[in-house]
Amino acid sequence: MSASQTVPQIVPQPIPDAESFYADLVTRHSSDCVVIADPERRALWVNPAFVAQTGYALADILGKEPGTVLQGQDTDLETMRKIRQACAQRREIRADILCYTKSGEPFWVDLKVMPVYDANGRHTHFISTMRDITERKALEEQNEEMRHSEQLRQSERQLLALTSEWLYSAKSIDELLMVIQRAMHTLIPEAEGALYIYDDNRTSLKLAASWGTMPDFAPHILPDDCWALRRGRAYAFGMKPIQFTCDHVRSKGAPYFCLPIIAHGETIGLMHVVFEGFEEGGIMRHMRDEVLRNRWDISLICGEQISLAIANVRLRQELHDRSVRDPLTGLWNRRWFIERATREFSIAAHEDRPLALISLDVDHFKAFNDQFGHEAGDLVLREVGRVLAAAADDSVHPCRIGGEEFVLLCLGHDEAACLERAENLREAIAAMTLSSGGRSLPQVTVSAGLAMLGRDGTQLEAVLKASDQALYRAKAEGRNRVFAACNPAATPSAPA
Ligand code: GH3
Ligand code: MG
Ligand code: MG
Repeated sequence: MSASQTVPQIVPQPIPDAESFYADLVTRHSSDCVVIADPERRALWVNPAFVAQTGYALADILGKEPGTVLQGQDTDLETMRKIRQACAQRREIRADILCYTKSGEPFWVDLKVMPVYDANGRHTHFISTMRDITERKALEEQNEEMRHSEQLRQSERQLLALTSEWLYSAKSIDELLMVIQRAMHTLIPEAEGALYIYDDNRTSLKLAASWGTMPDFAPHILPDDCWALRRGRAYAFGMKPIQFTCDHVRSKGAPYFCLPIIAHGETIGLMHVVFEGFEEGGIMRHMRDEVLRNRWDISLICGEQISLAIANVRLRQELHDRSVRDPLTGLWNRRWFIERATREFSIAAHEDRPLALISLDVDHFKAFNDQFGHEAGDLVLREVGRVLAAAADDSVHPCRIGGEEFVLLCLGHDEAACLERAENLREAIAAMTLSSGGRSLPQVTVSAGLAMLGRDGTQLEAVLKASDQALYRAKAEGRNRVFAACNPAATPSAPA
């Protein structure tokens, strides 16, 4: 400001010893705490705000290092170390630090410690000022907690989305169970869980999958043993004042959930989730309740998704079954046979394992139909189908590939074993006694021809042709018999 400008001036009244008077005013009325200490950090003086805030009088702290009086069990050790180090190096330091009042109440302060030097540069004092920031800290902590729980929710949502994607891409129940195990253990890591599925006659539920660190679940449970199944809705134990344990639960006392699994409106199973180690007196009560509430929400979502996924897989399986099953006999159809046989041919050829085709055809079936009617003819086909289905296992796959034409895909059996099997089937069919519309039907017989991969061809078409030719030979030789291709000597059977 230039000297030429006229500025109205307030001339303060001179006060004797003004400096110490104002300093006294500031320290007496400041809302910040002030501690003056000697170069060894021994307290010499505190202001009234310090006494009001901490409850300590000057006498309580005099000669002591302020930190040893104010700091307590939850004060951050690293911050304390930094302050001590700065003081030892006579540097100014500023830090947020947790302190305790004389009565043990915690409070946060923004602490500033400054070394003070005299005119000769000699270090004479430390001045510490402390501003109460408890409210700010509480807000910060609250924000931090909210941020943390929002992060958790977000990762849960991501996990749930990922889980549902996997659940919907499962093609079979086995695949689905694998996804459920992995997903549930990841989503609710502190719980053990199990999935039960109703057996075919719906009298009990069978353990289909379990997860967790030490899963221990009954292999079977009865519908009446579970409150959720009895009441037809999800049940949580351990979250309400009045509640009863389900009979199927092994660890009494631990909180658990039971969630019915429902597909197409029908209860098909139960998901059971147990929180071992969550009993009363385990983890802190309020934390326990919060964790359980959150896990309950997740479990409900999972229960619904698992229900939909199981319904989805079942529907898919049903549709697929319908496209590869013959509706009259329940055997595999031609489409399935071609697909599976093509695959098995290449595996068997690659691994040099035996593979046989047995072609079967009902004898004089046209005449049978003409005489006894189409319905009786259908009955014959169903009964022949039943005999063949009884012979099915992992290595023998009976198929109906045409009107009264069947073929068995036999994996891993040599020719003699296959001939014996064909012979047994021929005999079993010839031994059937059938009646339709109140009248008994005449004996039904089949002829069969057998061909081996390798000896009779390397491709499906060739081997199938060879087994058909053997079958024609069996027909030509009088029917009700089994012939092997290219091997006229191998005619083990003749009509009885
Ligand atoms: P062969 O001993 O030489 O095998 O004589 P076949 O009469 O059994 O043979 P053919 O091929 O002349 O006749 C097959 C008959 O099978 C003709 C058809 O009416 C009958 N058929 C085909 N599919 C069905 C079906 O789904 N139900 C019934 N009832 N008959 C069927
Ligand atoms: Mg035929
Ligand atoms: Mg026939």
